[in-house]
Amino acid sequence: MIFSDFLPRTLNGEAAENQPPFRDGAKLIFSGCEKCVFLDRTQTLLYTFCNRKFMKILVTGGMGYIGSHTAVALQEHGYEVVMVDNLSNSRREVQENIFRITGKAIALEVFDLCNADRTRAFFSAHKDIEGVIHFAAHKAVGESVANPMKYYGNNLISLMNILRGMDNTGSSTLVFSSSCTVYGQPEELPVSEEAPVQKALSPYGNTKQISEEMITDHIHSEACDGMRAVLLRYFNPIGAHDSAHIGELPLGVPDNLVPYITQTAAGKRDQLKVFGNDYNTHDGTAIRDYIHVMDLAHAHVKALDRMLQGKHKDPVEIFNLGTGTGYSVMDVIKAFEKVTGKPLNYAFAPRRPGDVEKVWANPEKANKILQWKAKQNLEQMMRSAWKWEMSLKK
Ligand code: NAD
Repeated sequence: MIFSDFLPRTLNGEAAENQPPFRDGAKLIFSGCEKCVFLDRTQTLLYTFCNRKFMKILVTGGMGYIGSHTAVALQEHGYEVVMVDNLSNSRREVQENIFRITGKAIALEVFDLCNADRTRAFFSAHKDIEGVIHFAAHKAVGESVANPMKYYGNNLISLMNILRGMDNTGSSTLVFSSSCTVYGQPEELPVSEEAPVQKALSPYGNTKQISEEMITDHIHSEACDGMRAVLLRYFNPIGAHDSAHIGELPLGVPDNLVPYITQTAAGKRDQLKVFGNDYNTHDGTAIRDYIHVMDLAHAHVKALDRMLQGKHKDPVEIFNLGTGTGYSVMDVIKAFEKVTGKPLNYAFAPRRPGDVEKVWANPEKANKILQWKAKQNLEQMMRSAWKWEMSLKK
C-alpha cells in the first residue's frame, strides 16, 4: 500500500485542520485492519489513517482500459473506489485483476449509465461519493463516422445522467475524460490548452466537444450548486500496468494502433494497416503524442486531489495530458520491433476519414499546476504493451 500526500486526520479518522499534510517517509508505528498510525519525520506529530474513512470515488467505465489503471492508482493512493460499467467494451475479470495488483476489493455495479432511473437510484444509494471520474463512453473514431447516433446517444446521455445524479446527491467533483481530438488539426504545435477548439473531424470528437460544453454550461448555471470539474484532454494512451494483470483489452478488432501491433505480432491478426503514408511528416505517417497509461492514471489522482483539497482556481479547469513529444506510426513500429526483436508485418493503406495529420501536446500547464509529468518513454510503453499481450496467451 502506498501512502502519500494524505491530508492529516485525527485519531478518530476525521480530517484535521491546520496541520501540515502527511508525506511519504513517515515511520509506520502501528498497522491494523482499518487503521494505520504514522509518526512524522520530525517525530512530533501523529497521523492516523482510517481506511474506512477514505474518500469514495465513483469511476464510471472503470472496467475499461484507462479506468482500470486509474482505479489501481486511486486505490494505491488511499481512495475507495466504486465502479459502474455496462461491460459493453470490457470484461468482468478486470475486477479480480485489479484486486491482484492492489490487494483491495473493488465494488462494481453493472448497468448502463444511459438508463436515467438506474443512474438516479445508484446515486441515491451512494450519497457518500465525493468525486466522480467519468470514463464511460464509446471511443472508436471510425465507428463513430459509420454510426454517429450510437456515439451521440451513449456519450451524451450518460454524461447528462451523471451530472443530474451528482446534483441530486451533492457529490461536487467531476473529472472528465476528454481528448486532444477537440483541437482537430491545430495550427500551432505543440498544442496548448489555449488553442481554439476546432470543428470536430468525427462524431466521436464532437461528443467530446459537446460534453466539455455541457459540463461548463451546467457548472456556470444557477441550477448548479458548487460543482467543479476538471477536463483532461488525453493524447494517446498506450502500454499496460507493469504487472501485466491489466491492459488494453479491445473486444473485436482493435481500433487503436498499439493493440493492433501487438495482436499482429502475436499472430492474432495477419497484417497491420498503416493508414496514410503521404502526410506532411518526416516519414509520411501520422504523428501522435503517445503516453503511458499509468502516467495518465497518476495524472487523474493529481487532478482529483487538487479539486478535493480546494486548490483549484476555477470551477472548470482544463489540462492537456501528454508527454510533449510526437512519434509517427513508423516510429512506433520501429520501437516495437526494437524492444521485442520481432519484425512486424505491416502495409500502407489510404488515409482514414477523421484522422488528423499530426498532433502533440504542450503539457507544461499540467506539469506545473498538477505537479505531474509523464515519466515513461516510448520503448517502455511498447515493452509493457507486449508483456500484456503475452500474458493474454497464458
Ligand atoms: P474503454 O472502452 O476501454 O473503456 C470505457 C468503458 O466504459 C468500458 O468498460 C465500457 O464497457 C464502459 N461503458 C461505455 N459506455 C457505457 C455506459 N453507457 N454505461 C456504463 N459503462 C459504459 O475506453 P478507454 O480507452 O478506457 O477510454 C476511457 C475514456 O477516455 C473514454 O471516455 C474515451 O473517450 C476517453 N479517451 C480515450 C482515449 C484512448 O485512446 N483510449 C483517448 C482520449 C480519450
